[in-house]
Amino acid sequence: MSLPDTQVTAQPTEEQRAEFKRLFLVRRGRRRLVVATFLALVLVVFILRLRGVDEVLGVPSGRWGLYVLGYGVLTVLFSFVNWRCPACNRALGRYGNPRFCFRCGAPLQ
Ligand SMILES: [Zn+2]
Repeated sequence: MSLPDTQVTAQPTEEQRAEFKRLFLVRRGRRRLVVATFLALVLVVFILRLRGVDEVLGVPSGRWGLYVLGYGVLTVLFSFVNWRCPACNRALGRYGNPRFCFRCGAPLQ
């Protein structure tokens, strides 16, 4: 019994592996940037409220909280699109810094 051609699991070439790693670094960088921005915004709004600042740039502080919440929702949506394995394109889940894709085994770092 022989396997059909489509079942042959081709090992990625060195070039493909290098490309997976490069894309992973780009995606990890993006993810860190949006998450860090979100945390910074949360901190800023928190400090403003603690200090009793009523408004910033003409916008009430309470509304900034809503904006930050909206940004948080966008961050989550962005993660669904961005945080994927460059090789198999499946979600990397909550693993923050995986060395390998736990689904297809592609080296990411
Ligand atoms: Zn994968």
